[in-house]
Amino acid sequence: MPVYCAGLQESKGVFGLGENDMILLVRYGEIHLKGLNRPHFESLQRQAIKRALAEFPDAKVEKGYGRFYVTGISDGELPRAVEAITKVFGLHSLSPAEETEKDMDSINEMLIRMVKDYMAGKGLAKATFKVQAKRADKRFPLSSMQLAATLGGNILEAVEGLSVDVHHPDFTVYVEVREKCYGYIDVIPCAGGMPQRSNGRAMLLLSGGIDSPVAGYMIAKRGVELNAVHYHSFPYTSEAAKQKVIDLAKIVSEYSGRIRLNVVSFTDIQMQIYEKCPHEMLVIIMRRFMMRIAQRLAENCGAQAIVTGESIGQVASQTMESIYVTNSVVSMPVFRPLIGMDKIDIIDIANKINTYETSILPYEDCCTVFVPKHPTTRPKLERIVEAESVLDIEALVAQAVETAEYIRID
Ligand code: ATP
Ligand code: MG
Repeated sequence: MPVYCAGLQESKGVFGLGENDMILLVRYGEIHLKGLNRPHFESLQRQAIKRALAEFPDAKVEKGYGRFYVTGISDGELPRAVEAITKVFGLHSLSPAEETEKDMDSINEMLIRMVKDYMAGKGLAKATFKVQAKRADKRFPLSSMQLAATLGGNILEAVEGLSVDVHHPDFTVYVEVREKCYGYIDVIPCAGGMPQRSNGRAMLLLSGGIDSPVAGYMIAKRGVELNAVHYHSFPYTSEAAKQKVIDLAKIVSEYSGRIRLNVVSFTDIQMQIYEKCPHEMLVIIMRRFMMRIAQRLAENCGAQAIVTGESIGQVASQTMESIYVTNSVVSMPVFRPLIGMDKIDIIDIANKINTYETSILPYEDCCTVFVPKHPTTRPKLERIVEAESVLDIEALVAQAVETAEYIRID
């Protein structure tokens, strides 16, 4: 379970509701900044939530003000549904809530039962609490402050072992008076970012390593749809190495939505570079091919940027000079979201998004097959261009693109 779902276990069945009584309040993040485009973003966001809940055929997603209401999820389905929604980009947080009519008796009854169940579920004999109320429907006779005070007093009287602490309570009871009245205790953080497919498409260079899945996740978080390219050197790299990349793409797609993965055979290009170019330049020339092919594939699928998992200085091919030389074969923007990050921080994200364990499986990568003993760390552009001029670059790129295997990951 991702770290940001901590607490979910406790919230399961907390309200003791029957089948389909649960409502999930799902709050969104940056969409509210989008002015006139807001309905468009909201529609994309709603579709993304629907896709994430595809395995729950009764789930309904309705738009409220600044939020979505998800209904049709039973108590038993709740943990899986909550986990699925916490992965949807563009959302800020969610709360499993209960809904009631806008009269004080019903609200009181609902909250007292909710608090009792919550304390019983957590095994709490004593606890501090506060009530936080929001009156969005201004026709409701009590102000937010009055509502919180009245309900707080009632709960205090009805539930044993409670005392009020408005600064550092053990838990907060939230009440919102809107279209209906909603009560909840848990607020579960979601992934943040922008809705899936709201910001164009990019081509991710996806290796089997730790970095590139994280890079893809970070760009997709901004609403960018991902297509991906993986270079493999069959038979020097195995089917298992390729499967590992498919598995990684599958994990990233749980956040990003569908990924179209191009698997490009790189053996011929690597062999030719190996035979015809100085060995200390192998990696740089190889990486220039990767970038050219990625750009060509990007153009073919309407992607407008390339994404890599590079981080300055991490390896020989990621020095400033190396990045300059590999970057110069493409004209598209190249996004490197990890460029200033330390490995340890990248690993933290890899763990959080659940790619780490797959990334560290020990399969060879095409980059590790033909590695020279002493790769140049300070390549000079003119020397590299001269060295690779013995190759029929255009033909090699065209052949790689034409023979790419196309895998749909949904
Ligand atoms: P990673 O953990 O992502 O493999 P790395 O530290 O091993 O990164 P490199 O091997 O230099 O670094 O690769 C830098 C970037 O180039 C990767 O993050 C990825 O975007 C891309 N890349 C490397 N190898 C491949 C490959 N076989 N197929 C597709 N892209 C690749
Ligand atoms: Mg790698």
